[in-house]
Amino acid sequence: MFNFLKSKKVVFLYNTLSRKKEVFRPIKKGQVKFYQCGPTVYWTQHIGNMRAFVLSDFMRRSLSYLGYKVTFIRNYTDVGHLTSDSDVGEDKMEKAVKREGGSPKEIADKYTKIFESDTNDLNILEPDFKPRATEFVADIIDSVGILIKKGFAYPTDLAIYFDISKAKDYTKLSGQNLEENKSGAGNAEVEDKQKRNPADFALWFFKAGKHANALQFWPSPFTSSLVKNGEGFPGWHIECSVMVKKLLGNTIDIHMGGVEHIPVHHTNEIAQSEALNGVTFVNYWLHNEWLMADGGKISKSVGTAFSLSDLKEKSFNPLVLRYFFMQAHYRSKQNFTWEALEGARNGYEHLINQISVIASKAKQSSLLLSSRRRPGSISSSVIASETKQSIGHTDPTFKTKFSKIIGDDFGISQALALLQEVLKSDIPKENKLATIYDFDKVLGLDLQKAAELSENIPDEIIKLAEERKLARSDKNWSKSDELRDKIASLGYEIKDSSAGYEISKK
Ligand code: AMP
Ligand code: ZN
Repeated sequence: MFNFLKSKKVVFLYNTLSRKKEVFRPIKKGQVKFYQCGPTVYWTQHIGNMRAFVLSDFMRRSLSYLGYKVTFIRNYTDVGHLTSDSDVGEDKMEKAVKREGGSPKEIADKYTKIFESDTNDLNILEPDFKPRATEFVADIIDSVGILIKKGFAYPTDLAIYFDISKAKDYTKLSGQNLEENKSGAGNAEVEDKQKRNPADFALWFFKAGKHANALQFWPSPFTSSLVKNGEGFPGWHIECSVMVKKLLGNTIDIHMGGVEHIPVHHTNEIAQSEALNGVTFVNYWLHNEWLMADGGKISKSVGTAFSLSDLKEKSFNPLVLRYFFMQAHYRSKQNFTWEALEGARNGYEHLINQISVIASKAKQSSLLLSSRRRPGSISSSVIASETKQSIGHTDPTFKTKFSKIIGDDFGISQALALLQEVLKSDIPKENKLATIYDFDKVLGLDLQKAAELSENIPDEIIKLAEERKLARSDKNWSKSDELRDKIASLGYEIKDSSAGYEISKK
């Protein structure tokens, strides 16, 4: 079997921390520890959110394809994520309770279920672990206690804060100037007068002040004059740090998230994790750019926060959205419009059609081969074994090109272009299919299944189409037209294309 690692090829990743593409060197040879910040389960995730999760799926599949054993974690945030991303605003879970009633747990269960149904529809592989923040409160409390002991955190009556002046190079990820950009890390709005620096961020919120009516809270060993038993809830940033530590270890290979996480959430994760563990937290920071809608930010109030079910209601196959996401690099913004999605649908259907024609031809020639070898009656077992013999091999030249493209900071749109090159190439059709299905391990478009489903073009039609192809190469245009008409009279339409021809039902 082809092994990219053994072939000594190099994988390049763009690291936000160094602001350049770097050679990927995993902590343990051949293994990747990969964490992505997951959804806050208080609402149906929109297609912008889904872009982030499809993109990490491309990354994870690419690394597996290249020979790495990937351990992938994506969490569920079910407490502590405030509406501002920093320390201002209300807990998103409570916002949802106000909106639709029920308990935070019921809200989390409901939206986790919708999310998992959507990720399944989009062919996103299941993570190795899917931790919920609320399951880690005891570990979070331990870590906050250690940060206090080590002198990195301090209490006020409202919260336990991380003191950013104690962090080594607090702004190393974002490169922001905290003096100039007070709205960047943490929050500029000093709601708590006892806070030391405006940008200090909360590790633990006491059930006091604006959070006096918090619906989710736990006792803690921390003290505040305003609450009994240290009651409160964890901050969003420490949740990720602790889940990473408990499930993957103190240093991981890859941490991914949206670009908006650079100045606040990830900056804070680094500060507290490195203070807690005394070692580098993450070796490679990957950030995906945003999906826009009609050129603007996706927004509920503008009516552009479409969900996957909105797309399904308009009869879009979820894989069309996946195909659409392939058209832009993860570090580029992508603009969603219904016209662009329609274009993706045409592209996806065209691709399936091209593949199903090749699959039909391959099936036909394997049957022909069988009947030629054994004239007269052909038993089904003979057909099965002959068909098996005609299964192709992944083309090594295309495979090497593909590996290089996806190993260069995940060039998925170039990989899609390479797939078109395979279709147009003159390698044997069985090898074409094998190569395409091999690429689909990364693309996740269900190409084999879709081609087989639509591979209902009768052998007779394929035979006529092949005769027409011969007639055209002999420049026998009248015969070619005659055959086209015959195909049409049988209910099929044939179109010439750069890859030969395409047939569809009329
Ligand atoms: P949230 O549920 O708000 O925590 O968001 C879940 C994920 O979706 C985060 O990783 C965000 O970075 C990502 N995200 C939110 N909006 C967009 C967008 N318009 N395009 C791409 N990713 C987004
Ligand atoms: Zn996170």
